[in-house]
Amino acid sequence: MLWQGRRESENVEDERGSGGGGGRLVLGGGIGTVILVVLYLLLGGDPQALFNSQQAQLPQSAQFDNQAPRDEASKFVGVVLADTEDAWNEIFRQMGRRYEEPKLVLFTDLTQSGCGFASGATGPFYCPQDRRVYIDLGFFRQLQDRLGAGGDFAEAYVIAHEVGHHVQNLLGISDRVQAARGRVSQSEYNQLSVRLELQADFLAGVWARYTDRVKHVVEAGDIEEAMRAASAVGDDRLQSRARGYVVPDSFTHGTSEQRARWFRRGYETGDLRQGDTFNAPDL
Ligand SMILES: [Zn+2]
Repeated sequence: MLWQGRRESENVEDERGSGGGGGRLVLGGGIGTVILVVLYLLLGGDPQALFNSQQAQLPQSAQFDNQAPRDEASKFVGVVLADTEDAWNEIFRQMGRRYEEPKLVLFTDLTQSGCGFASGATGPFYCPQDRRVYIDLGFFRQLQDRLGAGGDFAEAYVIAHEVGHHVQNLLGISDRVQAARGRVSQSEYNQLSVRLELQADFLAGVWARYTDRVKHVVEAGDIEEAMRAASAVGDDRLQSRARGYVVPDSFTHGTSEQRARWFRRGYETGDLRQGDTFNAPDL
C-alpha cells in the first residue's frame, strides 16, 4: 500500500506511553471511583446510573497530546483512518447523510474504554458508546508473527473492519442487533453477531474498493493480504483469546472462508445494497 506522505487523520488519540493507558485508567477505574460508588450507595443511589454517567464522560476527560510527534506506526494508522474518512464521508454524502468521523485510540497493554476495560489481548475493537476504535499495535505484530497475515494492507483491513462497525452504528444496524439481545435465544443472537461481523468485513471491502479507485494506492498483492488477514482472524482464533472485561470484537465472527468472501464482495461490488448479511440466505 502506498501510504507515505499522505494525509493523516486528526482523529488518532495516542495513549501509548501514558503509563499503560494510565490517564483513562485512573480517571475511570481508580480508587476515586470506588470511593464515589460507596458514597453514592450510602446516599441511596442506583450504582448503575453512576457507572453509566461516568462512562459517558470518560472520553472528554481523557488527556492525550494530539500534536506529539508521531512514529511510523501511528502515522500509518493515521493515513488509513484518513482514507476511511474520505471514503465514508463521500459514500454517506451520496446517501444524503452526514458521516460522523470516529476517534481511534492507540494504546499499550491496557486501557479504559466507554465499554469497560480493554487489554491488548482482546484484540482491536469498536466501542459504540464512545464511538471509538481501540487498537493495541501489538496485535499487528501477532497478526504477522503468529498468524502469518502481516503486511500494511492487512493492518489497514483490520482498521477498516473496526470503522465498519462504526458505520453500522451510525446506520442503526448495531442497535437493532443489540436490541435483540435477551429477546432471542443465545444461538440466534450469536447468529446475528456473525452477520454483523461479516457485514463489517463487507464494509472494509467497500472501503478498499473506494480507496483503490480514487487514490490508486493499492498495490499488487494488497487485496490478497487483506483476505489473508480476514481469514486469519476467524472465530477459531479470537474465541481462544482472553476476553477481559470489555465486550470486544471477540464474539462469533463467522468462519475464515465467510470473512474473506464478504470482504471480497464489498471490494468487487462497492455497493452497500450488496452487503445485507442479515437477509442473505447463504453466508
Ligand atoms: Zn468485528
